[in-house]
Amino acid sequence: MESTNFSAWLEKMELAHPLVIAGPCSAETEEQVLEIAHELKKTDATVYRAGIWKPRTRPGNFEGNGAKALPWIAKVKEETGMLTTVEVANAQHAKLALEFDIDIIWIGARTTVNPFAVQEIADALKGTDKIVLVKNPINPDLELWIGAIERFHSAGIKNLGAIHRGFSSYKKTKYRNNPQWQIPIELKNRYPKLPIICDPSHICGRRDTIFDVSQTALDLKFEGLMIESHCDPDKAWSDAKQQITPTRLKEITEDLRVRKDRVEEKDSVKKLTDLRSEINLLDKQLIELLAERMNVAENIGVVKKEANVAILQRSRWQEVIQKMVNEGGQNGLSSEFIERVFKAIHQESIQHQEKIVNS
Ligand code: PEP
Ligand code: MN
Repeated sequence: MESTNFSAWLEKMELAHPLVIAGPCSAETEEQVLEIAHELKKTDATVYRAGIWKPRTRPGNFEGNGAKALPWIAKVKEETGMLTTVEVANAQHAKLALEFDIDIIWIGARTTVNPFAVQEIADALKGTDKIVLVKNPINPDLELWIGAIERFHSAGIKNLGAIHRGFSSYKKTKYRNNPQWQIPIELKNRYPKLPIICDPSHICGRRDTIFDVSQTALDLKFEGLMIESHCDPDKAWSDAKQQITPTRLKEITEDLRVRKDRVEEKDSVKKLTDLRSEINLLDKQLIELLAERMNVAENIGVVKKEANVAILQRSRWQEVIQKMVNEGGQNGLSSEFIERVFKAIHQESIQHQEKIVNS
């Protein structure tokens, strides 16, 4: 699989870089599907997405219109000339998508986790020249993601790509699905020619952070974005909180900075830019982790206030620093450095706790 030029389809499509896929989480009605498509036609989006078969966490929610919505999607292509994509979750869906000449078939996160389902879909699509994009599994398992892509590759499907939609975590974070960028970066390192599309909508779960996540993806040289878009997001039948209007989509894509590989750029310069992007990302993750640590410190402050316990507990602090010095040593970090860093962290924590205790 390593040597395959997966990105050939992207070059052949001759679409603007980055590739922008947009459309509603779910195809709700024919009117809704077409209204959104005509609005998206005025943006940078060149591929129209819509969910027809919706995998829902709990029963009783809208599960999609099913095959009935396929002619609506076909009409999008007819009326706007946009390419189209839908999610398939079993062999029957895959056959129907081929019948209706859907251009790009995507595999959802809940399907990628199941090798039986993936194999069944790969068999149904055998030898197709349609593009198949595989979302990451909901759990942070790179091998499972690669395994699914391999099943399509072994079924003779050459036009492959991946979609990064973040990973589910039990712990509440500011993301709906934690991006864990190191996983798609590792996928890119292993398969440099495999296009990766970022889905900021399912990573964020909300509208106001979509720009930032999209920018990070472009800084990491992802080939495109898949963004859920709806003319009346608040009234969407699924994922209402994260959908944005086509007007907002246009603003976002206009404001994004695209890092182009300049031809004259020397290899070493290119490498340096890539490594700097990785550093920027790690720094960002450090800040997020520190903020999370301060939150926990504040919660401790609440407990201390209730129990009327002093903020500073020297023995606990000695224990923490000793543990971190050992941990640091195992990771090649000097004890002076660890002591300096943790003293600063501890001071900041105490300030956060004092704020709570004195409130
Ligand atoms: C979707 O794209 O609407 C969807 C269901 O995504 P995921 O498989 O990433 O949850
Ligand atoms: Mn969705």
